[in-house]
Amino acid sequence: MFKLSPEQRAIEAAVEKLMAPFDEAYWRACEAEARFPEDFRRAVAAGGWLGIALPQVFGGAGLGVVEAVVLMQAIANSPGAMAAASAVHMNIFGPQAIVKHGSNAQKQRWLPRIVAGDLITCFGVTEPGAGLDTTRIATRAQRDGAGYLISGQKVWTSTAQEAERVLLLARTTPIDELADPADGLTLFFAALDPAHVEIREIAKMGRQAVDSNVVIYDKLPVLQDDRIGAEGQGFRILLDSLNPERCLVAAEAIGIGRQALARATAYACEREVFGRPIGRNQAIQHPLAQCHMALEAAWLTTLQAAALYDAGEACGIEANSAKYLGAEAGYSACEQAVLTLGGMGYAKEFGVERLLREVWITRLAPISQQLILCHVAEKALGLPKSY
Ligand SMILES: Cc1cc2nc3c(=O)[nH]c(=O)nc-3n(C[C@H](O)[C@H](O)[C@H](O)COP(=O)(O)OP(=O)(O)OC[C@H]3O[C@@H](n4cnc5c(N)ncnc54)[C@H](O)[C@@H]3O)c2cc1C
Repeated sequence: MFKLSPEQRAIEAAVEKLMAPFDEAYWRACEAEARFPEDFRRAVAAGGWLGIALPQVFGGAGLGVVEAVVLMQAIANSPGAMAAASAVHMNIFGPQAIVKHGSNAQKQRWLPRIVAGDLITCFGVTEPGAGLDTTRIATRAQRDGAGYLISGQKVWTSTAQEAERVLLLARTTPIDELADPADGLTLFFAALDPAHVEIREIAKMGRQAVDSNVVIYDKLPVLQDDRIGAEGQGFRILLDSLNPERCLVAAEAIGIGRQALARATAYACEREVFGRPIGRNQAIQHPLAQCHMALEAAWLTTLQAAALYDAGEACGIEANSAKYLGAEAGYSACEQAVLTLGGMGYAKEFGVERLLREVWITRLAPISQQLILCHVAEKALGLPKSY
């Protein structure tokens, strides 16, 4: 896949138009006041974009992950950067687990509301005691009459403050009773009932507009109707939706990187030192040119991974590579933008310091760069599994 179709270009243009009213001043205020960009989220929902990759029969557009990455790149390639992307990210990729593994009744109950933006969701997988070793999570779902009682602690659950429901992974069979630790985990789409759920915001480095939280579940009652797929199959169900998420995060990192690069090049053309624009110096030009090439190469990898997924083909290596390359390219572009602006790169006024703080997330989540290297070493090169 080497170029976007006219329809995909039209998506990009429409999203650029959607983003226009949400300018630098809007996002700077959201960041300064740690205010969730609800009016932006509503505009995305009103444009029908939340359902871009959801089936038409439930109100979605029925398009693929390629179109979803075009959407997320365009959202992130704006002053909104990661704050804008994260305000809608989960509602675009998360419901895929419901689409693929939910019952028809569940799809009818939830998907139209997600598409309309009435049902905000979040994602509760990471735990303090397990980290990247997801099969070691300690959150337990115990059978209780017609449903389950869920207890445990999650960390980093983004948008839990706004969400009505959480896609929640919990252990239903103790790990020591199983031959394979990937069994015995179950996925729920649980209502965040404040009587049983405590949400505490984590103070963090950037993206202040979108909260991430410690979430404590104390005997949260969840009906069997809110379980996604079969008991014990949650980890495998989740794996299905990980590759699309890697593609989306890659697109977001690339969008932020392109935004930073545009600001850096504009500044390099305007700023005159030693009697000429700084952009005439190769020491300024070359790193920016390198950033451009890295971003475009990562974008091609992202489109390839997304196209493979949409074609129903294996794309684990490509999706992980896209996330790795996108995050590195996005990060380098933001770092180079700060360097290009010199002292002003450090001033909030020019916004590139905010882009740098926000793009950091793509190197850390949803999977670390190290673990991607482990995966590629094993799956692409045939080296022994190292983790
Ligand atoms: C802003 C933000 C938002 C997030 N939002 C969500 C969310 O909405 N929902 C959610 O569930 N999670 C979320 N996360 C969590 C994120 O997915 C995790 O932080 C990430 O998966 C890494 O897990 P960890 O932090 O526990 O790292 P750890 O597992 O503690 O790892 C720490 C470091 O050790 C390295 N490491 C560990 N083992 C190995 C090994 N064998 N070889 C090489 N290196 C290794 C890792 O690569 C990493 O660098 C978010 C995180 C952030 C920062």
